[in-house]
Amino acid sequence: MGSDKTRFGLDETRIPEAWYNVMPDLKNPPAPPLAPDGGPVTPEDLSVIFPMECIKQEMSPDRWIDIPGAVIDVYKTYRPSPLLRARQLERVLGLPEGVKIFYKYEGVSPAGSHKPNTAIPQAYYNKAEGITKISTETGAGQWGSALAIAGALFGIDVEVFMVKVSYEQKPYRRILMETYGAAVHSSPTNLTDAGRHVLAMDPDSTGALGIAISEAVEVAAKDPKTHYSLGSVLNHVCLHQTVIGLEAIEQMQLADEEPDVVIACVGGGSNFAGLAFPYYHRKLEGKSHARLVAVEPKACPSLTAGEYRYDLADEAGMTPQLLMYTLGHDFVPAGIHAGGLRYHGDSPLVSQLVREGEVEAVAVDQTACFAAAVQFARAEGILPAPESSHAIRTAIDEALAAQEAGEDKVILFNLSGHGHFDLAAYESYLSGKLRDFDYAAGTVLHEE
Ligand SMILES: *Cc1c(COP(=O)(O)O)cnc(C)c1O
Repeated sequence: MGSDKTRFGLDETRIPEAWYNVMPDLKNPPAPPLAPDGGPVTPEDLSVIFPMECIKQEMSPDRWIDIPGAVIDVYKTYRPSPLLRARQLERVLGLPEGVKIFYKYEGVSPAGSHKPNTAIPQAYYNKAEGITKISTETGAGQWGSALAIAGALFGIDVEVFMVKVSYEQKPYRRILMETYGAAVHSSPTNLTDAGRHVLAMDPDSTGALGIAISEAVEVAAKDPKTHYSLGSVLNHVCLHQTVIGLEAIEQMQLADEEPDVVIACVGGGSNFAGLAFPYYHRKLEGKSHARLVAVEPKACPSLTAGEYRYDLADEAGMTPQLLMYTLGHDFVPAGIHAGGLRYHGDSPLVSQLVREGEVEAVAVDQTACFAAAVQFARAEGILPAPESSHAIRTAIDEALAAQEAGEDKVILFNLSGHGHFDLAAYESYLSGKLRDFDYAAGTVLHEE
């Protein structure tokens, strides 16, 4: 079994023609979103801020949803993303023949992560509905830069509210967004009621993701030509990301292997959904027996330590309530470097699959993740994003456990992005300054 090759399936004809929607395949029907006050949410409510096509996808009963040709054309600039076998990492770890590690690499996109997989169709659907501007929030800037690129490609303005502390401390992602033509504001701003309200109370506010969301939603709600866009958590975002897993299934077949375990990190859940949902379907078809493993930081362990209940999707209460694993919408995680994993909740679909026992969840410490990331970089040559290092940690742990037990195991993980904008985090690790944080329910942990 297996092939001698390292890299599998880069022919553009292998880009999927339809996304996979997991909703009709769930054991229980997915729970609907609720308004912030607990009432029902109608498609009309959502249409103020989202395009109709995304709202339909959010609730669709169809298993396969066609990817528009214009979206496939843009996907072609970086898809199919490579699937690689981590041969040198296997050697460094001293793994036996039967223990193999494969990874799907999403860092080849123009933004350096999986996020353009949904930014591109979201920009396309908004443009098709006559929307001229998309507003959004960004923390460290990964989502903002993906949307800025998609906006530039489809000729639609992008306005980003970037949390002030990141705006000041992490200028490179801001410059990237501005280079693609996006307008980037340091949030809180005096452009919105929400921002002015915060500044009136605290003129020196350093901002927060919840405030930035409120500003971006307000801009969209007040202008009929402006919509709002989210880069994770929601069902349509998970749907768009399934190109990752659909490609991976074909590429693993070219490698002549079926994974025993499929691993990805979880912030809001979208890159995990992207790789794992197509494998969930493959299991239902009887063609796979893979365990599906979601990895989160110990400092923000919503799946492993959160409660399963309705909670607000944002701190400010501007967005609907979702049934999910949550640490509480007012939980402020410690300042770990994997900024993309610092979300208090999780995708309702990923949460439901954990609840139903279909997905396993584990939590890992950030120093152990950086150790794995550095080991990976030195073996495979790719510098991982701090978020992705959580998947690498767990992939290595799975490999070592198999070796220990004398078992064969084929491991597949998602390398969700590269870490070229995260060098300050690597410097902190290399100089021994990085530390771990314990999660304590309901408490606000101090920042690094
Ligand atoms: C944003 C981000 C994540 C976390 O988001 P998910 O929606 O959970 O996938 C993970 N990795 C990278 C590189 C990111 O940019």
